[in-house]
Amino acid sequence: MAMPREEGPTPQPSSTLDYDAIIVGAGISGMYQLYRLRELGLRVRVFEAGTGVGGTWYWNRYPGARFDSESYSYGYSFSQELLDEWDWGEHFSGQPEIERYCNHVAAKFDLYRDIQFSARVIAAHFNEVGRHWTITLGDRSQHTARFLISAIGLLSAPTMPRFDGIEDFRGPWAHTGLWPKGGIDYDGKRVAVIGTGASGVQAIQEIAKTAGHLTVFQRRPNWCTPLHNGPIPKEEMDEIRAGYPKLFELCRQTAACFVHTIDPRGTFEVSDEERIAFWEDRYAGKGFGIWQGNFRDMLTDRESNRLMSDFVADKIRQRVKDPKIAELLIPNDHGFGTRRVPQETNYYEVYNQTNVSLVSMLEEPIERIIETGIRTSSRDYEFDVIVYATGFDAVTGSFDRIDIKGAGGTPLKEKWTGGPRTFIGLMVDEFPNMFMIMGPHAALGNNPRSIEYNVEWIRDLLRYATERDLTLAEATPDAVENWHKFVLEKAEGLLSNEIDSWMTGINLNVEGKQTRTIVRYSGTAPEYRARCDEVAEADYAEMHMD
Ligand code: NAP
Repeated sequence: MAMPREEGPTPQPSSTLDYDAIIVGAGISGMYQLYRLRELGLRVRVFEAGTGVGGTWYWNRYPGARFDSESYSYGYSFSQELLDEWDWGEHFSGQPEIERYCNHVAAKFDLYRDIQFSARVIAAHFNEVGRHWTITLGDRSQHTARFLISAIGLLSAPTMPRFDGIEDFRGPWAHTGLWPKGGIDYDGKRVAVIGTGASGVQAIQEIAKTAGHLTVFQRRPNWCTPLHNGPIPKEEMDEIRAGYPKLFELCRQTAACFVHTIDPRGTFEVSDEERIAFWEDRYAGKGFGIWQGNFRDMLTDRESNRLMSDFVADKIRQRVKDPKIAELLIPNDHGFGTRRVPQETNYYEVYNQTNVSLVSMLEEPIERIIETGIRTSSRDYEFDVIVYATGFDAVTGSFDRIDIKGAGGTPLKEKWTGGPRTFIGLMVDEFPNMFMIMGPHAALGNNPRSIEYNVEWIRDLLRYATERDLTLAEATPDAVENWHKFVLEKAEGLLSNEIDSWMTGINLNVEGKQTRTIVRYSGTAPEYRARCDEVAEADYAEMHMD
């Protein structure tokens, strides 16, 4: 049985609070949480900063934005009716189709009526006496609820470079993660793209099709591999649909919920010929297979990782005609797969086009933005459009941007100085009645699969609490400490944790994010779920419930 708290003042009755639960964000997480909490008969309100649903897929409407995971593995799995009626148009669908899908879901399940759009949450404070949260919106209005659920995404706080003069530029400019709804006309224009992560790569290969001239400003290159996208004809969609039960079962079993299974063989347990044939096969295969379906030691064994990196480097050399450009595009500061692998379609071939040039910022850094374009250490470049594909203050950034204060007024940002600490990625001690969907140290990977799991876990806890008239649910410091130890244990030996990237908490554009931390849970999703299930099955005994 859950541990009771000491006697204290009577909590504010639920009926006097505006809502039972407030959800922040109407993306894939927030929409599903709303659906599940309504089933409990709770009064729920979603506050969403945008004017539409979709979250990531609402904001990231930059040219070329699309799924990097197979569409049919990346939608919701909870409703057979939805699975039956929705046909995906492409193996890796583009943003417009995904946004349509999100709106279809919102309409089908009548979600809009409980979502308040253009409502950015700027503060959330816990009231210890009343055992409730008070939420403040950008318009200063305040709303109370017993429970607060963050569905704010882990890559949703866009970051701009700290260049002088950004506002001086006279032409249109935008960050990929805040792309204007009306788009930006770049056909025939001189365009700069800064950044070559997953967003930059997608944008570059699309913009290069019609820009007058595209100049790519690359700081550190990434290892990119082919997506192998294509349309899904009706008959194939029927086959995919018939295979949904198997597909989702597979996602439940794999380490990061993808449809790709890690090969149980070690890299050196096969002959050189077999190894190369296997990698060729993966390179020719769809999506993340080459990353998530590689030899079991490729991301832990240095020699294996070096050979794999050499294999991909040769592919880049084969695809890029100018050897100097090819070398600039080959990473030399990290091995294959130790940062998130951008997925591409003719990305490397773009650099063979006469309307595309590459500026290596390692050789020629940007000094400032000027009215007419970009000034580097060597010269001024004139542009009509500048695209910032410069990433996000990941994992904790979207929390940092809200003034979240828990019991005793502790700011969450302060509590997470030096790196986040959570209980199973879902809760934080001293922040009672607050739950995070895809919070730090929850299982990542094929996110919608993890989201569905997180949402249902939270739903179960809220059902447990409301059925028993419990008004407080809080992780204990011991529970957080134990989970943290487990997270650190699981991070050991992974080459990716030795590399600077958003996955190790680094963002050179953000004050205080220059030191590597373990912001990601690196164990497997099945292990993660087993641990969460254990907590629920033991009636949340590891928590304060009162
Ligand atoms: P990112 O991977 O962090 O890449 C940001 C890029 O901008 C990097 O190339 C970085 O260079 C560069 N950059 C940042 N600040 C800079 C500065 N001041 N000067 C010069 N260059 C600068 O961000 P992202 O591409 O937006 O992707 C983030 C994550 O979002 C991905 O890893 C992925 O998980 C997710 N995503 C998913 C999809 C999808 O599934 N379809 C698509 C896009 C993104 P350095 O490497 O040198 O720092």
